[in-house]
This record gives sequence, structure tokens and C-alpha cells, in this order.
Amino acid sequence: MPSAPRLSSPLSRIRGREGRAAVIVAGGGPVGLIVALMLGRAGIAVTLFDKGDIIHSQPRAATIHPATLDILDALGAYALLEPQGIVCPIVNYYDGKLKLASFDHALLKGETRHPWVLQCEQDKLSRTLFAMGKANSNIAFRTATKVIGCSQRDDAVEVVVEAADGRQERHEALYLVGADGARSTIRKAIGVEFEGFTYPERCMIIGTPYDFAADGYAYRNYIADPEEWYNLFKISWQGPPGIYRLVAPVRPDEPLDGDRALETAQRKLQRFNPRPDSYDIAFYDCYTVAQRVAATFRKGRILLAGDSAHLNSPIGAMGMNSGIHDAVNLAENLIRVLGGEESDAALDRYVRQRRHVAIAHVQTATIANKQNLEQRDPIKRQRYRDEMRRRAEDPALAKAFLMRTALIDSLRDAAKIP
Ligand SMILES: Cc1cc2nc3c(=O)[nH]c(=O)nc-3n(C[C@H](O)[C@H](O)[C@H](O)COP(=O)(O)OP(=O)(O)OC[C@H]3O[C@@H](n4cnc5c(N)ncnc54)[C@H](O)[C@@H]3O)c2cc1C
Repeated sequence: MPSAPRLSSPLSRIRGREGRAAVIVAGGGPVGLIVALMLGRAGIAVTLFDKGDIIHSQPRAATIHPATLDILDALGAYALLEPQGIVCPIVNYYDGKLKLASFDHALLKGETRHPWVLQCEQDKLSRTLFAMGKANSNIAFRTATKVIGCSQRDDAVEVVVEAADGRQERHEALYLVGADGARSTIRKAIGVEFEGFTYPERCMIIGTPYDFAADGYAYRNYIADPEEWYNLFKISWQGPPGIYRLVAPVRPDEPLDGDRALETAQRKLQRFNPRPDSYDIAFYDCYTVAQRVAATFRKGRILLAGDSAHLNSPIGAMGMNSGIHDAVNLAENLIRVLGGEESDAALDRYVRQRRHVAIAHVQTATIANKQNLEQRDPIKRQRYRDEMRRRAEDPALAKAFLMRTALIDSLRDAAKIP
């Protein structure tokens, strides 16, 4: 597993030409924030541009896996995050109402310092990382400033940004990191294909204060159903007692306009767990779901990481987690390259390792997760049921399963790639 060095915050000793930033980061999601934080702490001058205010409160990632918790701990963020989240050692798998399997992350003791999942929403993580980054004088944050284009020469990159008042500026640096999310301007500007597909159905995420624990559900549950699968997770939200979040597919013919979206959300909750009263709905949102990997994560001095480089369905909670793993790998390699310890071939190793993980681990697992949860073929459904039961009953199989879902295997596999 890559170690995330806990470095002090020296005055920047590595700058670009004429005292400029050595690295520009486009996008201040969790991925861009971690790249900037690690570079800044290593004494590298960084400028991070975000078109918004960095803290997005949309309900997106909420599950942080053990491998990522180890990284966040090394960065000094875990102690700040744990009180904001919910520690969840258990994950349950259902087929409809039938519980198939229960796994306890305690089986991962000795493999990770955090043998549990932390349910902690993305905005809490971003707020924490942003505060840590602002304390580092090597990092300049430019919010409400959109990157609109980029180009490169042999010895530099140039980035064009547009401030909220429409004013445009040009900035030069030695490297540019495109951490600007799924619709990445950087990926498009450098002409990199985003290979893969988009599912026809969308994905609805619904928050309700209804306490599903009273119906026997754990804090993390995957529910297979050939008509409509579900993920049911608890999040801390605005503080104890927290709130449950149901994720369900939305077919193309289901209404999502205006009040009808709220009706759709209510119908999904009722179908999942019928009750005479209607559910209180704290929030709902809808997302397009795609499985895509960029054809390369590097063009010269321009690198892609996180959602700009790969996208997957939320089933398995691997998008942000694997993006954070990209961020650490990339930052460590940029530190070595800019510090003169390695040639910039180190950046090709970043691409080989992290693209391999995106394809062989994250894409494979998330596509299979969706197929398993929505399986209609009775023979395949039975095979899935048998497999999950067998895994849960055998500690060695259960541990091997959790090593994959917790993304520990993916980091170890990547580290073997030269
Ligand atoms: C419903 C749902 C649930 C999810 N659950 C999980 C989960 O439990 N676990 C998990 O690991 N993942 C989950 N994900 C995926 C996760 O949200 C993403 O993988 C994660 O946000 C990627 O982080 P990022 O930093 O790469 O990109 P983003 O978080 O998208 O951040 C990109 C940033 O770039 C900025 N930006 C964009 N364009 C520009 C521009 N031109 N100039 C400047 N700034 C720009 C944006 O303002 C934004 O701040 C979920 C996603 C969804 C939709």
C-alpha cells in the first residue's frame, strides 16, 4: 500500500519558473485536495482552481473503506473525520427480504489499521481536507475560478482560467493535474477518449430519517432484487442519530420532473419497505451512472486522476476511494520527480498502476456488483446466493472477499506493477 508521508509544511522550496506554482491542480474535490495537500506539505508550490466553492453538499460518496482510512490517517485527517462519521464494521447482503450473508471487517485486523468502514459523507471529507490545505502556505486556493483550457510545451503547461466576473487569466506551471471530475475540461482539452458505457437507467439517492435498524437492517446493506435492487446505508448527516440513505435504480420511463420525482422517491421507499404511513424524505437526487476509463491518464505534463480518469456505478462505493488512491500515488510520484529523485518516467508508472486498478479491480467489481444485484436468470441468482452464503460461512473466504471490497488487494496489486 502506498504510504502517505506525513510531512511538515516547509516554505515552498520547489516552484515553477519565475517563482510561479510548480503544479496546478484543476478541481478541488477530494482527489484534487489530497494532491494539493501532499504536494504543499512536501514544499511544492501549488495552485488549485475550483469552479465552485469546493464544498458540495449533494449526497454523493459516504463510504470510506479501510485502505482509504489508512491513507487519511497518514495524512492526519482520520482523527478529524471519525467524530463526523459512523464506524461500521458490518456489511450485510440480502436477496429481497432474505439475508444471505453478513461480513465483519474485524477479519481484516493485521491487514489494515482500520478494520471497519467509516460512513462519512464527501462534503465532510472535503471540508476537513480544505481546512488542512488552507493551513499550508504552499497552496494557493482559487475558488469560483473555472479552468477553461490548457496547453503544453516541452518545459511547461499553460492553463487558462475564468473568474466569476468573466475575467480570463493565464497561468503557467511545470505540471497540471486534472482532478476536475466526470466532465473533466482537462480530459477533453487534451483529447483523451473516455472509453466505456453509460447505463440507460439512472440512480436515485433518497435520505429518510426512518430508522431501518428497527426493522433489523445494519448500517450497510446491499439488497439484490431482479425488479429493483437497493443499497441501504446509514450516514451521520447532521449529527446523531443520523439518517438512512436508500440508493435505487430509476428506469428511463419513471418520472423525475418536478413533484413527480418526489413521488418516485416515495414509491421506491414504499416498494423497498412497505408501511401504512408515508416516509419523511430529507433529500433526494438523481444521477447518471457510467462505467468509463480514460484511454490514458497522462499526456506529457498533464495528468488525470479521480473521476476525470474513471467512473463507475456507486454499488461498492469505489469511485471516491479509488480516486483518493490515485491522488496519493500521483502526489508521491510528482514529489519524487520535482525533487529530482526520479525522472518523469515515474509518472508513467502512476498511469500503469492506477489504470490497471481502474480496469481490473474497480470496473470489474462494480459491473459485477450491479449484475449480481439485478440478476433475473434463476440459475445465476441461485449461484450468487450460494456463493455469498459460502463466503460468509468460511472465515478465509470472507476475509478474501473483504480484502477485495475494502480495496486493500487493489493497492497491493498495483504496487507490484513496475
Ligand atoms: C450517488 C453517489 C454515491 C457515491 N457513493 C460513493 C461512495 O460511497 N464511495 C466512493 O468511493 N465513491 C462514491 N461515489 C463517487 C464519488 O462521489 C466520486 O468518485 C468522487 O466525487 C470523485 O472525486 P473527484 O475529486 O475526482 O471529483 P469531484 O468530487 O467531482 O470533484 C471535482 C471538482 O472539480 C471542480 N471542477 C469541475 N470542472 C472544473 C473546471 N473546469 N475548473 C475548475 N474546477 C472544476 C468541481 O467543482 C469539483 O469541486 C458516489 C457517487 C454518487 C453519484
